[in-house]
Amino acid sequence: MKTSTHDSTTAAQAATAAAHDNPLLQDWAAPYGLPPYALIQPEHIEPALREGMRLHLQQLAAIVADPAPATFDSTFATFDRAGKLLSRVATVFYSLTASATSPALQAVQRRMAGPMAAHGSTVYMDMALFARVQSVYEQREDAGLTNEQMRLVERVHLDFLRAGAGLSPEKRQRYAQVMEELASLTTRFAQNVLHDEASWTLALADEAALAGLPPFLRAATAQAAEDRGLAGHVVTLSRSLVVPFLTYSERADLRRTAWQAWVSRGEHAGEHDNREVARDILRLRREQAALLGHGCYADHALADTMAGSRAAVFKLLDEVWPRALKAVERERQELLALRAEQGGATAVAATSAPAGAEPTAGPDTIEPWDWRFWAEKVRRERYAVDEAELKPYLSLERVAEAAFDCAQRLFGLQFKRRTDLLSYHPDVAVYEVADASGQVVGIFMQDNFARPAKRSGAWMNALRWQSRNGQQDSTAGALPAPVLPVVMNNNNFAKGAAGEPTLLSLDDARTLFHEFGHGLHGLLSNVQYERLSGTQVLRDFVELPSQIFEHWITEPEVLQRHARHWQTDEPIPMELVQRMQKAQEFGQGYETVRYTASALVDMVVHALGDAEPPADLCVFEADLLRDRGLPHGVGLNHRLVHFQHLFSSSGYAAGYYVYLWAEVLDADGYDAFVEAGSPFAADCAARLKQHIYSAGNSVEPQATYLAFRGRPATVQPLLKQRGLLSPEPA
Ligand SMILES: [Zn+2]
Repeated sequence: MKTSTHDSTTAAQAATAAAHDNPLLQDWAAPYGLPPYALIQPEHIEPALREGMRLHLQQLAAIVADPAPATFDSTFATFDRAGKLLSRVATVFYSLTASATSPALQAVQRRMAGPMAAHGSTVYMDMALFARVQSVYEQREDAGLTNEQMRLVERVHLDFLRAGAGLSPEKRQRYAQVMEELASLTTRFAQNVLHDEASWTLALADEAALAGLPPFLRAATAQAAEDRGLAGHVVTLSRSLVVPFLTYSERADLRRTAWQAWVSRGEHAGEHDNREVARDILRLRREQAALLGHGCYADHALADTMAGSRAAVFKLLDEVWPRALKAVERERQELLALRAEQGGATAVAATSAPAGAEPTAGPDTIEPWDWRFWAEKVRRERYAVDEAELKPYLSLERVAEAAFDCAQRLFGLQFKRRTDLLSYHPDVAVYEVADASGQVVGIFMQDNFARPAKRSGAWMNALRWQSRNGQQDSTAGALPAPVLPVVMNNNNFAKGAAGEPTLLSLDDARTLFHEFGHGLHGLLSNVQYERLSGTQVLRDFVELPSQIFEHWITEPEVLQRHARHWQTDEPIPMELVQRMQKAQEFGQGYETVRYTASALVDMVVHALGDAEPPADLCVFEADLLRDRGLPHGVGLNHRLVHFQHLFSSSGYAAGYYVYLWAEVLDADGYDAFVEAGSPFAADCAARLKQHIYSAGNSVEPQATYLAFRGRPATVQPLLKQRGLLSPEPA
């Protein structure tokens, strides 16, 4: 479009006028600079993002225009401070689309995804900027930098290289094309999975079809029907419905129908077929890796991880895999024994299935749609557990208090509720967080409840990262200032009825502690530069602070103090806790095999060096798993055709192993407290705080773990934690 001078003047005036009315573009006057959520309307977002991008590019242009030779301060410290308006608007926007979305916000999201991605490319492929980055990088050894400054130089330089900045002009152009095509293919992959999930329901037409479903599942399947304008009950392919259905339904025929629909998502011929989409993604990733000088995509992805190489990842997976196979075989034998005792597979099928349904299995076979059903029966039979027995001791209020109390006892943090500080919804609790001396170190927001406009799952995000490299947006030239972190946790607990507390399961309580562990990683961050702050660490390290914190919720001392009956205030009986933990140990073989099999498939498929991916990914997957000895009846966490970790973005491509990697560290790390004889051993807690929760990305992860533990991590505690060491069931 052609623009005359007159037109752009008018546009600039209009933008200035709009900025006056746009709360996102004004100084945020609330205490601690919290976002003006109450004033934000969807139409404020796009102009604020665009203004943020414009200012960011202007700030980067100023770095480049500096006539003096590039230095650490003029290039790296300034680059780290740039783009603050954009990031504060973007983080507020993303917090709204995740937790309080609307059709208007979703439309902004669709409109702005492209321009935001393009902005990232513009920054990291700016050759004049990269030339300055490169020049400081080359002279870094002689520049008298601190360790953290050295780390920042190497980190940011690597960010540029991994975004293609070091390539020749032709290759750079091709790289940008590849990235753009990948962005559109991964979006398509995710939408295809969503389509297959959204378009399938299984009607539970009568009482016989509901056989075995506990009250919560009857309620959930009725809600799912209502949400779709249907009468009665339906099962959908949402994980939170289909997994309990496979666990509790007495109807083998219906379990089979649901299972088959669930595992074939993304594999239906036609418009929403992911088989070719996944191949196209793999082909482009191979090309992306080759452009950057790697023989396969896995090598490119792993070059920027703690594991560092395929060999290190396979070493861990191969350590776990054969033990998990043995554990799952022990579990299978228990399932078979109980089924035989209860009259056998065919008897069950014949009594519960309608005429015409096929009998499910022979005497030695557990079908995949039957596994969870029989495992649940074994669990009830052997451990006599009932979630309902436990829940009254785990009110949300008590569990949240327990998390705060652990943070206080371990790290000296104090959480003070501030009801005068508001977020985007009245249910979000806002806390001022102070250290042992009473000094405020950050703000914590906790949004615990499920709502229709909120996405599912649980997560942590930062509205602002901690740093000591801040600058007031409006006062140019101000000295670098400390920036307090603002950290959020989101959970999706079903709110208790009016006048009653919200009661959690043990899994829910663990989830709260997990996300709170990520939250502490953000709040305790103590670094100078934002790029190195909080959870912005390597992806196979980021789950360590969250997973290790889960250990405290099952400490007897913590439970005795905080898990109290909401009506009687009685502490939880320890016998009940032990029974629950034993019951959860059963099934670890099944979970470990399903997880590890998916991690193996991910690693092998991304390690292929040929330019052309396998002709049929489903055949490739089946062959690999047969060679690896995956038992019939177990299945995978995710098949390639709907493996969103791998193909909905590149975040976890050649990276599904990271949860297990971090579990090695958390199991080994928590043993430090066991060895010290107390879950609150002061020395241990001080080292954990300094080297794990506060260090961010300012120290290399192997080195920081070593500083915490005094030795490298070993895999034994993980194997023990998963019950994979002993030949006897735990
Ligand atoms: Zn996590």
